[in-house]
Amino acid sequence: MKRYLSLFLLLFALFFVVDAQRLSDYRLLFDKRDMGDGALRVQCQFTIDFAQSDSIALDFGGNFEDMAVEEMKISPESIRYVFDPEARQIIFYRAGEDTMSVKMEYIFMNLTAVFMYGSKGAEVWETIYSVGGEFYYPMSRGMVYSGEVKFICPPSLSVVAMGGRDMSQWQAIEQCVPLNFVFLEKERYEKKRLDGPYKCDVYQLVGQQADSLRFDELCRLATMSVQWFESKYDDGFISPMLGTQEYPAFVFHNGNSAFNRYNMGFISASQEKFATYPHIYPLVHEIGHRWIGEYSMFVDEGERGYAFMIESLNEFMTLMCIRDIVGIEEYERLIERYRTLCDEIKGTEQDIHPYDVLRNDNIVVTYRKGPVMLDSIAREIGYDKVVDAIVRFYKACHAQPNLQWSDFERQCDIDL
Ligand SMILES: [Zn+2]
Repeated sequence: MKRYLSLFLLLFALFFVVDAQRLSDYRLLFDKRDMGDGALRVQCQFTIDFAQSDSIALDFGGNFEDMAVEEMKISPESIRYVFDPEARQIIFYRAGEDTMSVKMEYIFMNLTAVFMYGSKGAEVWETIYSVGGEFYYPMSRGMVYSGEVKFICPPSLSVVAMGGRDMSQWQAIEQCVPLNFVFLEKERYEKKRLDGPYKCDVYQLVGQQADSLRFDELCRLATMSVQWFESKYDDGFISPMLGTQEYPAFVFHNGNSAFNRYNMGFISASQEKFATYPHIYPLVHEIGHRWIGEYSMFVDEGERGYAFMIESLNEFMTLMCIRDIVGIEEYERLIERYRTLCDEIKGTEQDIHPYDVLRNDNIVVTYRKGPVMLDSIAREIGYDKVVDAIVRFYKACHAQPNLQWSDFERQCDIDL
């Protein structure tokens, strides 16, 4: 009986594999020549496999709504589609065949990149940031797509994407996350190579570079933290499906009061903080986002637990990493500081439960109160048990579309 049951489950699983819609043969050409700040000419080609469906809805468009996508040409002309800039969605309809090839050409205007990084010589293109995100080519989070990608830059700019790969050549992709990339003004950025177990390029603003001591610290912390996260999650950093082909480059810029961000292929962070702050633990947090973050745990903004599931959990794991690789004393000092910050907002409107932060707009609750609550639980049941529960949640739910708070509760049997 058991054997029949397994067979049935296997057939059931196969049915869904066969049934899944798929995008393949992508050819993505991003051309930055003669384009102003935040603008990019895109040539995009792909094949849709409709599977059993009559249509496919893909994320496409940006903050500029009607003006995010300009001069769009789609071929073949017989193709039926509806582009809704407000919903940031394009729907293609089947024309008889199971598969259909689409060719698109347009100019994309990325307002997020302009507002956050404009005039600092760095322009970061990241798909998910604001409420609706910037979807500069049609795709769908969680749906695997394959193909190749290439960039053309004017001589004054370089592009960083997919670690240290040469993006002027076609590079293969097979992933379920959007591509991220940054254009840098060559004159304003110095490139250095980290050559230890952790090999990557580091870009720094000329005139504000960190000293060699800080550079060594980056090398040591990056190496140790990657090893720590890899062993805890039992999952290597390199995961082509999640967009990590190599260890990410570090891009230190000073865009808009210095945001730290994990992007596939590179980590962007504040040059000023990197060069002058007492420690660089925030970079460990960014490395941790390879496992738990918006590019692996696909929970939508506005959902219960949004900020907790992608940020609080990662900040707690960052602290666990520091506890192990730097020391318990350092951990106790940090968590005490977090506790003090929580006390300062006690009784105010800001002081809500971490799972009620539906957008990433409550720094103290998400990055301090969340970890402090997990720390209190860990003091009761043991740090290993809390870490194990978070790892269980990651393993069961990463790359799963439409993640819900109930998924966390089911996997992570912790009473918050
Ligand atoms: Zn974060």
